[in-house]
Amino acid sequence: MASAKEGPRGMFLDGQELTVTGREHRTLLDPATNRPIATVPTGTKEDARAAVESAAKAFGASGWAAPDGQKRVQVLGRIAQALAERWEEFARLETLNQGKPLRESKGDVLYAARTLEYYAGLADKIQGETIPVPGDRLDYTLREPLGVTVHIAPWNYPLQLAVRSVAPALAAGNAVVLKPASWTPLTALSFARLATECGLPPGLLNVVLGSGSEVGEALVTDRRVASVSFTGSPGVGRRIGELAASRVVPVTLELGGKGPNIVFSDADLERAARGVSFGIFLNAGQMCWAGSRLLVQEEVKERFLSRVKELALKLKLGPGLEPGVEMGPLVTREHRAVVEGYVTRGVEEGAVPLVGGPGAALSPGLEAGNFLAPTIFDAVTPGMTIAREEIFGPVLCAMSFRTPEEALALANDSDYGLLAGVWTRDLSVAHRMARGLEAGMVSVNEYPVTFPQTPFGGFKQSGLGFEQGSRALEFYTRQKNVNVNFAPARPPRT
Ligand code: NAD
Repeated sequence: MASAKEGPRGMFLDGQELTVTGREHRTLLDPATNRPIATVPTGTKEDARAAVESAAKAFGASGWAAPDGQKRVQVLGRIAQALAERWEEFARLETLNQGKPLRESKGDVLYAARTLEYYAGLADKIQGETIPVPGDRLDYTLREPLGVTVHIAPWNYPLQLAVRSVAPALAAGNAVVLKPASWTPLTALSFARLATECGLPPGLLNVVLGSGSEVGEALVTDRRVASVSFTGSPGVGRRIGELAASRVVPVTLELGGKGPNIVFSDADLERAARGVSFGIFLNAGQMCWAGSRLLVQEEVKERFLSRVKELALKLKLGPGLEPGVEMGPLVTREHRAVVEGYVTRGVEEGAVPLVGGPGAALSPGLEAGNFLAPTIFDAVTPGMTIAREEIFGPVLCAMSFRTPEEALALANDSDYGLLAGVWTRDLSVAHRMARGLEAGMVSVNEYPVTFPQTPFGGFKQSGLGFEQGSRALEFYTRQKNVNVNFAPARPPRT
């Protein structure tokens, strides 16, 4: 079980966690108290190179990439089971490091376990096709692993999002280098250890720590790296896209969002209010797919907002490890300052806080942590900064509309296009909205929702490519065409 203090942890290379002395270290803090919880070494370009070296060797020597995939099915299945069995240890560690309530961390760990189970089931079903061609020829395709794949993860769902791309990459037979976010590496390190205990050959999953600008870029630009899976902010995503393009390697970019949650007057309004509240206050709003823009039909707006306000006021804030806590702190002091900046800006630009707002009081005892009161802004207009930029905190921006066409225009008036929510009992409206929304994912009458077997990805500045689902395996494999001419030998010319 994770203690309040984890002590020194190290990078995970060649099947071992290496705690080293005499190197620069980063002290990780509990977001609920800002007290130290662990130290980790600050990685360098050399560490990035060593991690890629380890993966490249393991890819060649471990037999992991064998076409039948039987070993991958068995080992990934064991890891899935072990993670599900040890959920509490991992959930506690996630909460300690990231701050979210324990029940959310439990959900994240079980989701990661289910993702592993899903891809374990697919690992021996990766196959090509035969293609009819003229004459005495057999033409077929092979799907082969890429080799060394790099995975760069953010801090909001440290374990779940790391596993989301690592699991299909391993299932496809690749060797992986994972770089977690600098502030939240603990569950990724423990996961690598667990995977090794479950029989994953050394070198197939390396976890390298350090800054994005040094270690992240060293990974992306290493000529032995065959693909990059990035989840994080749009600015960094664009940089990684450029670096990957200059090497002509495939990349997936899972970036930010400004999700519209669209509530029609005929919806089950109680269910919608709970969904809207969940969609913005879960993980203290630190979600790419947060429903941060509430679009509500004019005739029910007042009633609906007063119910969402009631729910926000009832939320119990506190340290994620305390029983009954419904919203934890933000991840760091720095990030809280960014979110507070948006809240102040909202008021300056004319939005009206119904709940929260600049300097909103917190319960006594929370001052030392990075807590921030939930905020609901009314009177938001589409041009305001808070309506356009991703805030990544517990801040809901409410606007109203009259017709479905108007709702669609407002919803699509965004640089982002990740998840959009629609709340209505009218099937025709639901399907017309689903067709018209410029978003990689649309959810009707619940928000947010995804499963390991369904694609996750965004349009516009929300990203490039998809994670999850069986099609993700196409990204982690390459296709080869083989043509065989089996025409009988011609008699020799006389
Ligand atoms: P971030 O972009 O700051 O960092 C993400 C990762 O990239 C970290 O590991 C970081 O160290 C690394 N990094 C930073 N600069 C780098 C560089 N130059 N080269 C290589 N790697 C670099 O993002 P964050 O603050 O950790 O996460 C929040 C962002 O992630 C939000 O915008 C959120 O919407 C997005 N996000 C998207 C999804 C999705 O699935 N679409 C999921 C979660 C979070």
